[in-house]
Amino acid sequence: MASTQDSNAPLFLKIERYLEQRQALGGNLAYIEPMPSTTSATHNIPLSSSLAVLSEQHHEESVKKHQSQAETSIKTALQGNDAAPTVNPAWRDAPSLPVLYENIHTCLNCKLGTTRTKFVFGVGNPDADLLVIGEAPGADEDAQGEPFVGRGGQLLTKILEAVNFSRDEVYIANIIKCRPPENRRPEADEVEQCEPYLYKQIELIQPKLMLALGLTAVNTLLKAKHTMGAIRGKTLEYRGIPLIATYHPAALLRNPEWKRSTWEDVQLVRKMYDNLTGKSS
Ligand code: SF4
Repeated sequence: MASTQDSNAPLFLKIERYLEQRQALGGNLAYIEPMPSTTSATHNIPLSSSLAVLSEQHHEESVKKHQSQAETSIKTALQGNDAAPTVNPAWRDAPSLPVLYENIHTCLNCKLGTTRTKFVFGVGNPDADLLVIGEAPGADEDAQGEPFVGRGGQLLTKILEAVNFSRDEVYIANIIKCRPPENRRPEADEVEQCEPYLYKQIELIQPKLMLALGLTAVNTLLKAKHTMGAIRGKTLEYRGIPLIATYHPAALLRNPEWKRSTWEDVQLVRKMYDNLTGKSS
């Protein structure tokens, strides 16, 4: 429906044109008959000032109208942008990890997408039998776009090497692909948005065994509230895959007394890996 501003515009134009014609024909002064009920003399009205007032009013109306149109256009554009997918919907059918990466690395499906520096997809052997999984990228990972590359990452490399795994032999990823600000725990809606990418990575890699680093990672994967003491040394399961939990390397840097337990956990990983794959170190 046309607004009052819209419906006034043609009227202003007509009046403006009329006054301009009168000005061209009779000069700048318009003669106006006195009202029969008044005794006042005739009025000579300067048309130029009327036109100026009219023009100003018309201009204001026009500006308001265009502002309103611009606001509507911006709102529509923003709404369209909100709705626009930031990932290629074909990601669910990606036949390989590189194609999956291409389809999802621009993801803005949760608020972490707007604060990340780099999307942290995962790294390692695409056919790995062991998937090492953390909770979310930290500052170093966010800066470099690769999981477990800071001091904690270097310690992880040493831990893996201690049981004869190289970083290239396994696959390393996080549940969440973008860093939560201040390294806070991922929120439920962020996990809900991001975890399907991990499902797809698992579908493509088909690991035989998973090693979860840190209690938050384990509880996020299992939707549980375990304590590390209750689950260490046990074989859990995630999407049908055996899963062993141990401490996060960053926690080990703060609590070196946990290194012994971690050593036991990764020895268990090695043993299970050898049994499941028929390989041995
Ligand atoms: S955390 Fe996951 S869902 Fe959120 S923006 Fe990053 S990739 Fe997308």
